Order: sequence, then structure tokens, then C-alpha cells
Amino acid sequence: MNIINYKEVLEDIYKHISSEENKGSVATYIPELAKINPDNFGVCFLSVENEEYGIGDWQTKFSIQSISKVISLGLAYKIFGDKIWKRVGVEPSGTPFNSLVQLESDNGIPRNPFINGGAMVICDMLVSHFENPKEDFLTYVQEICDSTEIQYSKKVAKSEASVGYRNKALCNFIKSFGNIENEPREVLDFYFHMCSIEMSCQELSKTFMFLAKNDFKTSKGESVLSRGRTKRVNAIMQTCGFYDESGEFSFKVGLPGKSGVGGGIVAVYPGKYCITVWSPKLNKKGNSYRGMEFLETFTTETELSIF
Ligand code: GLU
Repeated sequence: MNIINYKEVLEDIYKHISSEENKGSVATYIPELAKINPDNFGVCFLSVENEEYGIGDWQTKFSIQSISKVISLGLAYKIFGDKIWKRVGVEPSGTPFNSLVQLESDNGIPRNPFINGGAMVICDMLVSHFENPKEDFLTYVQEICDSTEIQYSKKVAKSEASVGYRNKALCNFIKSFGNIENEPREVLDFYFHMCSIEMSCQELSKTFMFLAKNDFKTSKGESVLSRGRTKRVNAIMQTCGFYDESGEFSFKVGLPGKSGVGGGIVAVYPGKYCITVWSPKLNKKGNSYRGMEFLETFTTETELSIF
């Protein structure tokens, strides 16, 4: 078996991609996100044996946005078990993340938990369960990552709320079908805060170990998901993690993963490693341009994809 020199491979790819044109544009529909420096570029590789390599801006915090939807899904799955699948599906939608179209014919059951509507239904479950949903969710993320430095960005949450007309429409629309229990205002406040969490590539790779490591335990020694449930969350990332570019990501990278409009992508090789890439410029489908390039090259050169 070939021993891979991860450090060298990662550095070579980083150097190569840095020398090429940085295509795409940063997300501007959330005013606060438009202020980011488009040239930030960080990578963190973390193996299940704790081998860690970071390059560039790997310790700089950024807005994780939709990547947070995986963490909230994990928590709702842990609390409610398979009941969650009565309220949200597991099929790729093939539509943009904020689309309303399918909800009408699907009677308010979002196709999967990673499109905005699906994530809101998951948020609604957590709002019903917790006394202080925002505080309790943050504590859970901090425990998985073993760091109290993870926080919401009040500025980003407020900025998104000020322009989030489509998300407000989605939440109200789902409520009209009876698939949101709480007041949309409360669910949206939780959703905007969840998306505003700021983390570095290093912190994200560490957090996503709950989907890579078989015997993962939080800092309090608690298990997060059983192996069977971990398999299912990874499967949904594989099929639905990249909006309507999920097939393309699977085709090019061959790993379960999740992206966010802040320019982050986390990819997981179950049983082996997590890798996070952050570069804020997004392609037309809303995924980090350099993130996609980096991961495609990485899994091709190392031959380390699940396929
Ligand atoms: N908070 C963003 C929204 O709801 C998340 C989008 C994303 O990262 O895909 O529009």
C-alpha cells in the first residue's frame, strides 16, 4: 500500500490552485457576507487518527451557513430518531436551495433536510424540544468541537433576517401545510442564527469527525449518532449536500459533503478523514469555486474517495 504524504499533496494542490484565476463571486444577497475578502483560502485535513494538516487561512473563522444544517440534522436525529422522516424527505431536490416550487405539490414536506425548507422543519423540531433553542444548540456544537470559542455572528444573523424574504415565505408556506409547529418568526430566528455560526476550517474538520469516526464521543463522553444513523446522514450529504450540483460534486469528488454560501465545504471519508476547504468565491450553483477544484484534485491524486 502506498503511504501518502498528505502534507506534500495538500501543499502542492494549494499552490497550484492559488496560482490559477479565482473564479466566481462572493455571496452578496446577505449584505454582511458581501464584506468578506474574496482571496481567503484555507484547508484543513484531519484523519481519524488525529493527523492534522492546515494550510493558508485554515484557522480564520468564517460564516458556515448551510454547513450548519448537517449539525442540526444530527441533533434532531439523535433526539427524535426516525420520526423526523415523516416531516422531511431524503431525495435530492434538483432545485436551488431556496426554491418554493416543489412544496406545493409535496404538501409542505421538503424533499430533504439540506434545502432551506427542510432545514427549517428540522429547526422547528429543535425549537419545540428545547427551552432555549439557540443556547442549547450552540452548547451542543461546542461540545462536539470541544471548543467554547464557537459563537453565532449576531451581525450576520441580523443581516440575513433583514433581507430574508424568501426564507420567510418558505417558512410561512410550510406552516400553512401544518409542517411547522411553532411561530415562523421564532423558527426563522433560530434558523438565521444557526446559519450565522462562525468556524474555521480546523474547527469544522474537528466537528465533522462525528460523521467520520466510528466511536466518536463529545467532550462530555457522549455518543452523537449510532453507526446506522451516521450512514444515513452521510448518504444524504452524498446525494443532497451541494444544492442542484450534488450530482456534479459526487461525480468529481466522490465523497459525502456539505457546502455553504460562506464559501466553506466539508467533505467526509467515513472511517478515514474529514477535510474542509474555504474560499468565498462561489460558482453559479452557489458552491465554492476553489473548494470544488481543490477537493476534486485531492481525491483524484490520492485515490481516496469512497468510490
Ligand atoms: N442562510 C442561508 C440561506 O438561508 C444559507 C444558504 C446556504 O449556505 O446554502 O439562504
